[in-house]
Amino acid sequence: MGRVYIPTDETFPRVADVVVIGGGIVGVATAFWLSRAGLDTVLVEMRDGLSTLTTAASAECFRAQFTEPAMVALAKPSIEIFENFAEVVGIPDYDISLRQQGYLFMTDDPEMVGQLKAAVEKHHSLGVTDSEFLTGDEVRARFPQVSPEVVAATFRRRDGWLACHETTYGFAKGSNACFLLRTKATNILLDEGVCGVETTRGIISTRIVVDAAGPFAAVVGKMAGVEVPIEPVRRQKVIVGPHERIPQDAPMTIDLVNDAYWRPEVRGALLGWVDPDEPVGEPAENLPTDYFFPGIVLEKLAQLSPFWEEIADGLKDADVHISAGQYCYTPDDQPLIGPVPEVPGFYLNCGYWAGVMLSPAAGKRVADLVTGAMDPQDNPLRPTRYEEGVVVKGDSFLRGRR
Ligand SMILES: Cc1cc2nc3c(=O)[nH]c(=O)nc-3n(C[C@H](O)[C@H](O)[C@H](O)COP(=O)(O)OP(=O)(O)OC[C@H]3O[C@@H](n4cnc5c(N)ncnc54)[C@H](O)[C@@H]3O)c2cc1C
Repeated sequence: MGRVYIPTDETFPRVADVVVIGGGIVGVATAFWLSRAGLDTVLVEMRDGLSTLTTAASAECFRAQFTEPAMVALAKPSIEIFENFAEVVGIPDYDISLRQQGYLFMTDDPEMVGQLKAAVEKHHSLGVTDSEFLTGDEVRARFPQVSPEVVAATFRRRDGWLACHETTYGFAKGSNACFLLRTKATNILLDEGVCGVETTRGIISTRIVVDAAGPFAAVVGKMAGVEVPIEPVRRQKVIVGPHERIPQDAPMTIDLVNDAYWRPEVRGALLGWVDPDEPVGEPAENLPTDYFFPGIVLEKLAQLSPFWEEIADGLKDADVHISAGQYCYTPDDQPLIGPVPEVPGFYLNCGYWAGVMLSPAAGKRVADLVTGAMDPQDNPLRPTRYEEGVVVKGDSFLRGRR
């Protein structure tokens, strides 16, 4: 069973087969699969707990509705892992609060209808055969809270959301790895390749390091002399307290015209807006939130889900909680996974704007690349794809980039 602890001099491991830097859901899922592959795995996390930075800020949703082949190839098996989580991690009845109420991408713009139809055709061609194109009337027949203005949508029932904290800790507990809290990686030691990680508690000798440091992945990359092309962008999230007018059987509902979304959350709701004008920032642990953000989101949501207008009118500050984290964009809006050839032993698993939903299969892929079960050339998300010129530009909905 995995061990999560704050190390002392006595319990600090001095040697490991592999060190993962970063204890968000991506790093922890990676450590899970590496340890399951039989490698002596140590994860270092600078903060007080696992899953406390970007992972904690997320909307906790997952979907297979992607149009990039490489994203589908991670999203589909990841959802299967979520669906069978207790069995995968080997902890009977382990509960990650899985809710498969679907993802509904909708529009009131008649000019977008063809784009939605094309997206569904693309999903089907990539093996996501259960996504549906819905007309406006079909949307309202299933979800009466939707405005008469809606002309079309895409929908997939098996998409949904879960509890990130429980999922991350499930991967940790189900592993054979050590998870060192309050332990910051400060340098990566190199000879002909990776030979160790220097931390605030001492040096761990290792030949393999995985950079899963989320928004700090480029900072960690620099420690190994590697430039990691990611751009962190702040994204805010709003939780609205319980309200009888919020339909609890609704799907994750996205307005494709204005990029606002909402879903039910414990008798209330979780709301967000992927502001396309939010600038690229520096990696940060403490991000400011905007006082006016909830009001802006509510106004946007009310356009296609009019019941929000009624709720907004009576909302008090105490019913609204706002937080922020960072999406990490890469040049093609898809993650960076796998070895960096110029530094033998240095691997990336970063560059996510949808890292929760891709983490199970992405972690498995890193383990397969480390053990040789996967050939790096069979991995379309290899970090060298840009200089090789084998890039498929992302065009999935709700990336936040146009
Ligand atoms: C508002 C919002 C909504 C989102 N909604 C969704 C969603 O619905 N679905 C989805 O899939 N994704 C969503 N995302 C994106 C998702 O949250 C991230 O892609 C995912 O959490 C990334 O996980 P991670 O493990 O890579 O990063 P993190 O969770 O940030 O973990 C990285 C860890 O590395 C640690 N670290 C950094 N540097 C060091 C160091 N030097 N030494 C030791 N530790 C270090 C950090 O402390 C941190 O804990 C959302 C993001 C935001 C902000």
